[in-house]
Amino acid sequence: MILPIVGLGHPTLRKVAQPINADYPDLQQLVDNMFETMYAAEGVGLAAPQIDLPIRLLTIGYRNYDEKLKDYVGDPIERTMINPEIVESKGEMQYYNEGCLSVPGIHEDVLRPESVVVRYYDRNFQLHTEELTGLLARIAQHEIDHLNGKVFVDRLSPLKRTLLKRKMNDIVSGKTRTFYRMKYATKK
Ligand code: ZN
Repeated sequence: MILPIVGLGHPTLRKVAQPINADYPDLQQLVDNMFETMYAAEGVGLAAPQIDLPIRLLTIGYRNYDEKLKDYVGDPIERTMINPEIVESKGEMQYYNEGCLSVPGIHEDVLRPESVVVRYYDRNFQLHTEELTGLLARIAQHEIDHLNGKVFVDRLSPLKRTLLKRKMNDIVSGKTRTFYRMKYATKK
């Protein structure tokens, strides 16, 4: 089932999400719904607060793009992370252009570490400690921010945020059009 995605300005996006355990009701269905919602919106990551659920659960899914073939190659790279924790950051700080399904129409370069070691439970509650690098590290850090009530625009400079003020206000007031379904705090 495809769920509506909450936009910037919605209070759930600003909550510190709560950890869950294996008894969480209908967890498998919820994870399936999150993948379906993420892919339908052409996203590469989705955190539960973005579907108005303040719990520590996120999904990641994308395929590598081959510049020469001008096409996506290989199997999709997917992760489900429950109660994820960044235990170590590695490598250089890098800029990468980020966007967010909750912040439609805004894409900006964000500075983050190149690699992170993340400890998390998968959807079967198996514990993993995994070193992530490149796009996978980038998406995981962006989604873990969501679990802490943070959105990528918070990481931009004050000047950049001032320049984006009108665009952000349009999102908050529900004026920004998206091809996927959104849910706003101020527009029912
Ligand atoms: Zn996001």
